[in-house]
Amino acid sequence: MTANPRVSVAIPIYHEEAVVPELVRRTSAVLDSLPGGPHEIVFVDDGSSDGTLGMLEAAAERDPRIVVVELSRNFGHQTALAAALDQVSGDVVILMDGDLQDPPEAIPTLVDQYRQGYDVVYAQRVNRKEPWWLRMCYYVFYRLLAALSSIELPLDAGDFGLMSRRVVDEIRAMPEHHRYLRGLRTWVGFRQIGIPVERAARHVGRTKYSPLKLLKLASDGIFAFSIVPLRAAAILGAVAITCSLLFALYSLYAKFWLHVPQGFTALIFVITFLSGMNLFFLGIIGEYVGRVYEEAKARPHYVVRRVFSQRVSRDEGAAA
Ligand code: UDP
Ligand code: MG
Repeated sequence: MTANPRVSVAIPIYHEEAVVPELVRRTSAVLDSLPGGPHEIVFVDDGSSDGTLGMLEAAAERDPRIVVVELSRNFGHQTALAAALDQVSGDVVILMDGDLQDPPEAIPTLVDQYRQGYDVVYAQRVNRKEPWWLRMCYYVFYRLLAALSSIELPLDAGDFGLMSRRVVDEIRAMPEHHRYLRGLRTWVGFRQIGIPVERAARHVGRTKYSPLKLLKLASDGIFAFSIVPLRAAAILGAVAITCSLLFALYSLYAKFWLHVPQGFTALIFVITFLSGMNLFFLGIIGEYVGRVYEEAKARPHYVVRRVFSQRVSRDEGAAA
């Protein structure tokens, strides 16, 4: 552990041209104030088709600390983060969103905790500025995940945070495709601490996470860190069998002693309920099988088109 670590700030960025100037200005100002160095900012352009890439390259021409990694198309936020981790060279890495929802001014506080001996310092979100229904979804999701998960995942922690070099190397060695980075970070272990950081509203523009993408991230979190849903099938199955046995006993009793005519309402109910449950758990099993299939294909996680900074400018093929 070094007192004045070289800091790499890793920022995935997708269609954020309205934020880039302010982002570069505020992040560079924070790096200026940090002792040690040389520090760097690694931007991963996740296939933007607006002016984002041009602005980043112009910034890199002015500032030797800026590295721009251009992906060959849009691969998604978590994959762009993975691409950034493959490029950073610092002693510590700060993962940060590119829309200024994660305030760069919190970076010195994160580095302070690293100096205290922590390998992972993650920002715990307080005071979210999202609409109430989305905040409620986040709230429920983090608690559901914590309840289901095989490891103890911190509540309300996003990707924003600091990781030491050895944590980054452990994560990079993980071959899995469906990355839920904040979960993998917890899995690695070492000394970890959360500090409260206020989550700002987006600087400008709209979220790049559609409800569908958000759902995908949430399911990556759950299915990558829990097999409880698979067990739920067995448990619910056992409950259903018990119920149907009890119901069979009652039907026999009703048939021979009460002589009630047997209606088919109950029958229809049982059939639809059980076939619904069958389909539901087939879907859950399919979710895991699909993931096994995707891992088995072992495709590269992303493709880099170009890496650009004052020191390097190289075209690339597939990586990682
Ligand atoms: N992002 C990305 N690729 C994507 C979607 C988003 O690199 O496919 C970037 C985006 O530019 C931003 C960060 O990931 O810097 C977080 O995205 P966003 O702010 O849209 O997510 P939210 O904060 O709403 O969860
Ligand atoms: Mg955001």
